[in-house]
Amino acid sequence: MHVLILGGTTEARRLAELLAAEPLPGLRVTNSLAGRVSAPRTPPGEVRVGGFGGAEGLAAWLREHTVDLLIDATHPFAGTISFNAARAAATAHVPLLALRRPGWVPVEGDVWHETGSLAEAAALLPALGRRVFLTTGRTGLAAFAALDELWFLVRSVDAPDAPRPSRMEVLLDRGPFTLDGERELLRRHRIDVLVTKDSGGAATAPKLTAAREAGLPVVVVRRPPVPEGVPVVTGPGQAARRVREAHAGRPDALSPDRRGPHVSG
Ligand code: NAP
Repeated sequence: MHVLILGGTTEARRLAELLAAEPLPGLRVTNSLAGRVSAPRTPPGEVRVGGFGGAEGLAAWLREHTVDLLIDATHPFAGTISFNAARAAATAHVPLLALRRPGWVPVEGDVWHETGSLAEAAALLPALGRRVFLTTGRTGLAAFAALDELWFLVRSVDAPDAPRPSRMEVLLDRGPFTLDGERELLRRHRIDVLVTKDSGGAATAPKLTAAREAGLPVVVVRRPPVPEGVPVVTGPGQAARRVREAHAGRPDALSPDRRGPHVSG
C-alpha cells in the first residue's frame, strides 16, 4: 500500500511519524513538500519536493507511482493544492482523505473582525490602528503594500519578497511561540491591531490570548473550504487510524460520511 501525504504542516509530519512508529507490513509512505521553506523539517519516510504541475501532473504522479491513498495534510490556506488533490484523486480513482486542524473559535473578550481575504483585511486596517502585527506569512504582503500610513511588524519563517509595505520591520521566526513572548512583542512594538489567518490547531494561539488580554482588535482571515465530498479528519491520530483501517481493508475507512467535527468549510 502506497500512501502519498501532501504536507508542509506539523500535522503532516506528525502523521508520518505515527505511521513510522508502528510500521504496517508493506506500507510505503511518501511525503510531498512544496519546497517553499529553505530548511524544512523533514518527516520520516520518503520525501519528494516541488510542485506536480497542476491537477493533471498530480494525477499522473499518482498513477505512475501506484498510489493507493492520497492524504491532503496541507495547510488550511493552501487552497490550490487541496483543489488539485480533489481533482487528481477523482481523475486517477485514488481515495482522498483531508487532514485539517480545527479552526479557532472566538471566546469572551475577543474583538475579532472576520474577513474573507487578505485584501479585505487590508481594507479594514486603517480604521483599527496604526501599528499592525501581521502574521499571515511572507506571501500575500502585496495586499498591504499600499498602506503607507501604517507601520507593520511582519513575522515569517523566511524573508518576504516585494511588493511589501514601505514601513515595516521583519521578524524571522517560526515558533512555537509563548504567551509571555507574544505579550512582550505587543508591548515593545506598541501594537494596535493583530492580523492572522484562521490557521487553527490548538484551541487558541498565544498571540490571540495576548491580544485579548491587551484588548486589541484582531483581523481574522477565514480559511477556504475543503473541496466538496472529501472526507475530513482533524488530527494526525485520526488520520493514522484511517490509514490502518484502509490497510486492513475496512470498507468505510475513507467514507465521505465519516467527517470529523469542527471543520469549517
Ligand atoms: P497552494 O497555493 O495551495 O499551492 C500552490 C502550488 O504549490 C500548488 O499548485 C502545487 O504546485 C504546489 N504545492 C503546494 N503544496 C504542495 C505539496 N505539499 N507538495 C507538492 N507541491 C505542492 O500552497 P501554498 O499556500 O503556497 O503552500 C505551499 C506549502 O506550504 C503547502 O504544502 C502548505 O502545506 C505549506 N504551508 C502553507 C501555509 C499557508 O499559509 N498557505 C502555511 C504553512 C505551510 P503544482 O500545481 O505544480 O503541483
